[in-house]
Amino acid sequence: SSESNLIRATLFPGDGIGPEIAESVKQVFRTADVPIEWEEHYVGTEIDPRTQSFLTWESLESVRQNKVGLKGPMATPIGKGHRSLNLTLRKELNLYANVRPCYSLPGYKTKYDDVNLVTIRENTEGEYSGLEHQVVRGVVESLKIITRQASLRVAEYAFYYAKAHGRERVSAIHKANIMQKTDGLFLKCCREVAEKYPEIVYEEVVIDNCCMMLVKNPALFDVLVMPNLYGDIISDLCAGLIGGLGLTPSCNIGEGGIALAEAVHGSAPDIAGKNLANPTALLLSAVTMLRHLELHDKADRIQDAVLKTIAEGKYRTGDLGGNSKTTEFTKAICDHL
Ligand code: NAD
Repeated sequence: SSESNLIRATLFPGDGIGPEIAESVKQVFRTADVPIEWEEHYVGTEIDPRTQSFLTWESLESVRQNKVGLKGPMATPIGKGHRSLNLTLRKELNLYANVRPCYSLPGYKTKYDDVNLVTIRENTEGEYSGLEHQVVRGVVESLKIITRQASLRVAEYAFYYAKAHGRERVSAIHKANIMQKTDGLFLKCCREVAEKYPEIVYEEVVIDNCCMMLVKNPALFDVLVMPNLYGDIISDLCAGLIGGLGLTPSCNIGEGGIALAEAVHGSAPDIAGKNLANPTALLLSAVTMLRHLELHDKADRIQDAVLKTIAEGKYRTGDLGGNSKTTEFTKAICDHL
């Protein structure tokens, strides 16, 4: 493709194993001829006063302009006077929904082989509003904030996503029988949006029942949308169903159509720099980015090559019980392309 057809995307290789797995993504994208030009940004070594964090203003501007990006894991430096990197990204880019597709990887055996669901977590409010205080000695209070605006926004995204990806059902997960006002409002917003999508089945499932059903038979679910805390817990539960955080991709959706994909795992300092990391989660996150760009053809090809390589079992990294290096596993994927 000619230069002008290239889509610019921001890339944060991140810390620890980040640069190694980011290199793997770049190599796979080159091999698959993906029309993306990466604009790389690194976490700074000092606090940028404009962001109060080690993330520079320029790197955030890059995501705002390109509207798409891929982020490796970031280890927040310890010390006072700055904001966590992930919190900075979430606040500055208003990343309001976290989307995690979760499907069984053929050839990688877990207790389930028919998981194919997507969790969509509200990412800005709920129990994570950070409003906690002591009322009197021995009594503390934490405020759970649910707004119509944020609930409608995440519900809209869930239904839009379901329709765009040919999914049939959206389940709103809640505890409105107890949290009548907060979860009640969340459900009301989901119902309003559901009315605009008559072709998609809408249901409401109480969170405790949802956990039981997920563990008994995850195939019952398709797209799940929920407030922040439930989303945090359920999305990890779902990652566990398919083999853990090393395999799970995610994508953050932000204001103005921003999509910032990222692996769910951290910087894995214990294996960093040793060519041992599994790049699958970051690769599959990059695939969600391609789907956001509607480059479904490239997304399918890369996803197939990754899954085939894992299914074959000849080249697997240590976390999946193999002894391949990151670079050998990556080459095997490229050979499948
Ligand atoms: P971690 O996910 O980095 O590591 C947990 C375990 O999983 C380790 O044994 C590690 O070797 C293994 N692991 C993780 N990813 C792997 C991969 N791709 N291939 C093979 N093995 C993998 O969690 P942690 O040790 O709790 O956190 C380390 C650092 O990462 C911390 O500084 C934390 O703040 C940061 N972190 C960042 C993010 C993020 O940027 N989104 C998320 C979680 C943790």
